[in-house]
Amino acid sequence: MSLGQSHLLAAVLAALVGLVVGSFGALVADRVPRGESIVRPASHCDSCGAPLRSTDNVPVVAYILLKGRCRHCSARIPSRTLLVELATAALFALVAWRLPTLWALPSYLVVVAGLVILSAIDFEHKRLPAAIVYLTALVAAPLLVLASGMTGKWNALLVGLVAAAACFAVFFAVFIAVPKGMGFGDVRLAGLCGGWLGWLGASVVPVGIVVSFVLAGVPAMVLLARGKATRKSAIAFGPFLAGGTVFAICFGRLVAHAWAHV
Ligand SMILES: [Zn+2]
Repeated sequence: MSLGQSHLLAAVLAALVGLVVGSFGALVADRVPRGESIVRPASHCDSCGAPLRSTDNVPVVAYILLKGRCRHCSARIPSRTLLVELATAALFALVAWRLPTLWALPSYLVVVAGLVILSAIDFEHKRLPAAIVYLTALVAAPLLVLASGMTGKWNALLVGLVAAAACFAVFFAVFIAVPKGMGFGDVRLAGLCGGWLGWLGASVVPVGIVVSFVLAGVPAMVLLARGKATRKSAIAFGPFLAGGTVFAICFGRLVAHAWAHV
């Protein structure tokens, strides 16, 4: 099997895994902000409390067949559920297709799943629960150490650690300088993103950070232009940091290479 074929196969498999992981991610994004357990009770309708049939738990398909409504009380199923499932599947496939080494894929998929969940929560509630950031890092880090061992890229691990510390420090400085512009959750998340970008190469890190700020700047400027926001109104930065990070995981080396040749 050629390298291209193995990446294509990995992308298809990753999309399927992404649907299942995304389904769990949607549950986490729903329950954690409310302080509920992610284990018990089993999935149920938020309105009438009726437990879901096992077939109603099938990602995406169930949402479409039920037309986005509860089978019992017809209450709307939050569109967040569908969006988180689709986003996780699509981004899993993209990362599997683009990641230079498939040994590192499990670790990066854990990070992507964490980023999708955190983005959904930050978008809705304007916060990034520390427990989810730490849990993502705790699961993904040993997988990255394993990938470093399998590929012999121990140096990449060191670059990742330095990049994590550097991103944490830069965002911490912004947090101290402009306390209203950024939450400490963003600082923590920047450390996580920096680490996994750094493993791919030092030049990938600035791509992720720059793209994050560009992505965040566009809606902020639109809101300002429409007079719907003042310069002080906070926007959740987490989804943009996550977006810039996933972009750089997939295309950071390409962009950095192009920059170097301008
Ligand atoms: Zn119901």
